[in-house]
Amino acid sequence: MSDKFQPKYIKTHETGALKEKISRAYSLMESCRLCGRNCNIDRLKGEPGFCKIGKEPYISSSGPHHGEESPLVGRFGSGTIFLTGCNLGCIFCQNYDISILGEGSKYTIQKLALKILYIQSLGCHNINFVTPTHQMPMILSAVDIAIEGGLNVPVIWNCGGYESIEALEILDGVVDIYMPDFKYWDDTPARKYSNTPDYPEVARNALKEMHRQVGDLVVDDRGIAQRGILVRHLVLPGGLSGTKDFVKWLAREISPDTYINIMSQYHPCFKAHDYPEIDRRITGDEYREARMWAVNEGLRLDK
Ligand code: SF4
Repeated sequence: MSDKFQPKYIKTHETGALKEKISRAYSLMESCRLCGRNCNIDRLKGEPGFCKIGKEPYISSSGPHHGEESPLVGRFGSGTIFLTGCNLGCIFCQNYDISILGEGSKYTIQKLALKILYIQSLGCHNINFVTPTHQMPMILSAVDIAIEGGLNVPVIWNCGGYESIEALEILDGVVDIYMPDFKYWDDTPARKYSNTPDYPEVARNALKEMHRQVGDLVVDDRGIAQRGILVRHLVLPGGLSGTKDFVKWLAREISPDTYINIMSQYHPCFKAHDYPEIDRRITGDEYREARMWAVNEGLRLDK
């Protein structure tokens, strides 16, 4: 592997900086500020925060995934590890059994490290932590052990966009690819549907920090992503995700070369049936319009 594409965590591990980052990450849990919600409770003493996860890893499922964006999948798939719990509370969540109802199993750090190495041994092109931020200290601890065991594929942080800058600074030099959602441009739907009125501001700041760390998405000669940011944006019915304003901001404030997946798959799940305005799929016109806005801004669109 050329130095150009060596995962960032290798040097961070070699210099001892990763151990220091792990210690900082755990100290953030003492008055939890791992995400934008800032619950300020002591998770190390077992106090429950919004995400309801303590200090042990909780995993829902794992394995090669071929349904992710094409630069992540290649021939052998993206090595997904789905974390239990979530720092958001989206009332339309498609994975609410995992994120809100807590489906999953308690792991040890060692078992998670072995899982990471097993997934790599299957040929997966990356380790893709899905909804990871509220479990960040335990993930970093497992990555540290996995590096000793030969981990050498890019680490993906596949998150909701509601990350604190303090937490992201710890991830600097560990994460190769950020894959944040950007859910809402405006505070009102963020409050109503995800219980996070400050989501737009927190997510805008988070995306800026992520891009500062890893830049635009870079692929190798096989077309496999090695570094950078890939943004996901789910189009909600009735323009509630604020796509037009968001893609304009993304192109102008982050980069016109940002890789973005404008997602069409919204369907009413969980409690969405209680909200008539989002109790439907989006129309073809809504989706085409959203893509056209992104194209007009010159962004790199996933197929
Ligand atoms: S990670 Fe969990 S406990 Fe910590 S601030 Fe976020 S929601 Fe609260």
